[in-house]
Amino acid sequence: TDNPLLSAQPQAEDLDAALRPKTLAEFVGQEAARENLKIFIESAKQRREAMDHVLFFGPPGLGKTTLAQIIARELGVSFRSTSGPVIAKSGDLAALLTNLEAGDVLFIDEIHRLNPVVEEVLYPAMEDRALDLMIGEGPSARSVRIDLPPFTLIGATTRQGLLQTPLRDRFGIPVRLQFYTVAELERVVTRGANLLGVGIDAGGAREIAQRARGTPRVAGRLLRRVRDFAQVMGDGAITQGLADQALTRLEVDSLGLDLQDRRYLMMIADIYKGGPVGVETLAAGLSEPRDTIEEVIEPYLIQLGLVARTARGRCLNDRGWQHLGITPPSGQAP
Ligand code: ADP
Repeated sequence: TDNPLLSAQPQAEDLDAALRPKTLAEFVGQEAARENLKIFIESAKQRREAMDHVLFFGPPGLGKTTLAQIIARELGVSFRSTSGPVIAKSGDLAALLTNLEAGDVLFIDEIHRLNPVVEEVLYPAMEDRALDLMIGEGPSARSVRIDLPPFTLIGATTRQGLLQTPLRDRFGIPVRLQFYTVAELERVVTRGANLLGVGIDAGGAREIAQRARGTPRVAGRLLRRVRDFAQVMGDGAITQGLADQALTRLEVDSLGLDLQDRRYLMMIADIYKGGPVGVETLAAGLSEPRDTIEEVIEPYLIQLGLVARTARGRCLNDRGWQHLGITPPSGQAP
């Protein structure tokens, strides 16, 4: 809804911000990435240089923005944030870049959605810390080069492959974020409950963690919803039974799949007899953008082994049929 009075957004964002880890030590999981970043941060600080450019890639909600903020904080520099689709003209990017101070972090979310003309400005900025600006028009136009302060660009995208090679190659530190394990998400949930001041036992934390789609953002959202149920239906504390009841009512199933995930699986099972079916066909059938299917829905279902991406299209695996509780049509099992 557009009515600001009816929108729950601002409060949800406040809570989201409250749950965000502020230091590398507080950040749960992504062990390998964290260890490496620690070294790159420390060495940049020792040399008093800007840290090299970082590219985070992985599905939404895994902590790309959070890590970018943490890097700036640990480097002791300012954090400027924007996103690919928001930068309409090269002048907008030039303005952002020329306002940076030495060592600052500029974060560009959804960097794969930068306008190609704007992207061109980024190349010399990243490589030579310089801006090539065109002044004037027509035959009298000329290019002037402006030096930029040393800075760190941190880009975030869902898949590394969405970036043009020249852009991808200019990031010295590419970091792939993985789905979180249940044990890691248990820590995220327990920490979140403590910050929200809500009681939770080990079973409650485990139940939410198991149904959080490997994603801390989802874990935080489920925790807030389960807290509502605990407050009204229980004594305020989150137990396993209460979490299970609440999540079932929210139509989050035992694997953590939501309605959108199940619609996707059911379409392959029901209409396409298990596949193979092309992603465009699925997108049309589900009325979802292809990007949403490929970047949001599929990665987790593939990780769970419910579906497979093949050259001929998407196929439901045995595990997918089992989860839906449907017997595959004979001769169709992949
Ligand atoms: P992305 O930028 O990848 O979409 P965010 O950085 O915005 O994801 O993280 C989404 C939410 O999940 C944030 O509110 C943050 O509090 C939480 N979060 C992400 N990673 C972690 C983590 N490792 N530990 C605890 N909370 C996390």
